[in-house]
Amino acid sequence: MYHSRTPSTQGKTHRIEIYFATFANHYSLKKNCVMLKYTLSFSGSVLCRKACVPQRNKHISCYNIPNSFMFKIIRKKLGFFKRGILGFFQNKMEKFVPHSNAHPNTLQFPHTNIHTLPHPPELNLFEIGRSVKNKPIRCFQIGSGKTKLLYAFGIHGNEVGTVKLAGHFLKWINEHLNELNKITLFIVPCLNPDGFSLALQNPDYFSGGKIGRLNANNVDLNRNFATKTFQKESVWYFSEKIKVYCGEHGNSEPETKALTGFIEKNDIKILFMFHNAGKEVMGNKNTLSQKLTKLFCEKSGFHYVSDEDWAKLNQTGTAKEWCDEKNIAYIEVEGSARWGSDWKNQKEAIISVMRAA
Ligand SMILES: [Zn+2]
Repeated sequence: MYHSRTPSTQGKTHRIEIYFATFANHYSLKKNCVMLKYTLSFSGSVLCRKACVPQRNKHISCYNIPNSFMFKIIRKKLGFFKRGILGFFQNKMEKFVPHSNAHPNTLQFPHTNIHTLPHPPELNLFEIGRSVKNKPIRCFQIGSGKTKLLYAFGIHGNEVGTVKLAGHFLKWINEHLNELNKITLFIVPCLNPDGFSLALQNPDYFSGGKIGRLNANNVDLNRNFATKTFQKESVWYFSEKIKVYCGEHGNSEPETKALTGFIEKNDIKILFMFHNAGKEVMGNKNTLSQKLTKLFCEKSGFHYVSDEDWAKLNQTGTAKEWCDEKNIAYIEVEGSARWGSDWKNQKEAIISVMRAA
């Protein structure tokens, strides 16, 4: 946005000053408002360019644009480049085919030596629904205890590492079945298989890893839940504020329907939802959720996000709010790697929280 001042006469040159305001919103909600002041002559040549940044003590600092503006762009590009290099290697090191169609009772795990796990009777595999492009949304059931926990990964298909994390978790569970006396685990390794396939086919390592976030109807599934706050359009804070489409109405998407339908039918006590990357954990208003969220933070070293901080993100139609309305404990984990499983960082936290549930 901009506004221009009335032309004024200073010395012999007619000048016009134009102000551009840019907003850089970070995930941590730190806001920087940068005014770009262009002083132009009427012939259109640029006489002066300055970036004016409001400071905390209400002073305004001005910088010459070529330095500060270019520095900001370079820093942003370098950040993408650094993450891109890391993402490239993480993705190459941990290959994973989570939805092998070769045999419905097999799952390939994310190891350098990819191996196929035989299907033990304790590990029940079924579909909870289909995606927009008719891909199966699979769910593993392990154990048959009274307390039912649901773990969902890959709601945002670009968050490839979460699907790999599901594979590691499943492998660990399969080796520790004695842990499951009192609980039933339901594990959905990939809730958004269409977005996930797109992300794998178009790995945009060097532009931030955005491709594949949405489902095949271009809907952000974590804004599509049928909550009181649902709106057709909401926001996603990436390196800037991005508008996202949330569907025609709450629960309009087959992926959201599959998840909510399954939860309602099965009396799920706790929903765990895995995202990346932000090294953050948040719960909902449920007391158990708050207790387990804090335990997850303690074991992983991730940052605790309070309800007040979450509210500042202005998100609508989220799984968190839906669980609040249904009185289900909700725990959302923002892991630390976009393309890697992050298993080493989250293993202790995931297992400790599962035991405490
Ligand atoms: Zn996400």
